Amino acid sequence: MVMRWVVIAFLCTLSVSVTPSELRADGRFHLIFHAPDHPGEEVLRKEVIASGRFQEVVALLNSTFLLKESVTIRFGTNDGDGPSYDPENKTIIMPYGFIGETRDVLKRLADSEETAQLMAMTLDSLEFTLYHELGHALIDLFDLPVIGMEEDAVDGLATVLAIETFEHGGEIALAAADQFILTAEAEELVLEDIQGVHSLDERRYFNILCWVYGSDVKYYAGLPEDSELGPERAEGCEEEYALLADSWFRLLKPHMTPESLEDRGDQQSPAGG
Ligand SMILES: [Zn+2]
Repeated sequence: MVMRWVVIAFLCTLSVSVTPSELRADGRFHLIFHAPDHPGEEVLRKEVIASGRFQEVVALLNSTFLLKESVTIRFGTNDGDGPSYDPENKTIIMPYGFIGETRDVLKRLADSEETAQLMAMTLDSLEFTLYHELGHALIDLFDLPVIGMEEDAVDGLATVLAIETFEHGGEIALAAADQFILTAEAEELVLEDIQGVHSLDERRYFNILCWVYGSDVKYYAGLPEDSELGPERAEGCEEEYALLADSWFRLLKPHMTPESLEDRGDQQSPAGG
């Protein structure tokens, strides 16, 4: 049985009244929902706050990782730019505009009348994005080695974090995978996509599918066929996920709290082998 890294049991906290210098001092993750510059973004801000999703994630991160410096997760207006990690200010930036874009992309999958379902998928994909940016942050903060492309590496961490944290965390990663494939279908491939630091969206889609499937081949038994993952890739996914989860765990273990390691159940690898 897969041992989970952490047990979700905490009260939600929201840090909205502290200054950046105070944030740097206490070695914790802080969440800020900055007032948006555009009135249209206020509804997105309210929905994300009301979900409680990211307050929960921040409490989870604080119970899991030992930081020497504080990290700010800041939701705010960031015109024209996507989510990012700023190593100078140790800040993960989650633009409200990106929430709207995510929702618009996923709208094609959700029944248009089922806004609750659409919002849940949007929050799932956003949570994956936060874990992806967190991966960049952890590489910076813990001076972790990266072999291969960092963008692929942190997609892997985001998938592992979602799966090893939540009972059906694979759904979080699958929402992000859906967003990648829908974006790929809607946008024409240009040279910059191939030159860029990210793998192509189609590639990111199939990587995530393989890792989610590999995390629990019984639970996700229908996934390879439903998603065109293909039998050749699917065959190696269980091993691929186990190696991915174990590699990340070995890198992160020195930076994890004793409580989180205890909750995980002794010193086994996340994939139990
Ligand atoms: Zn990235």
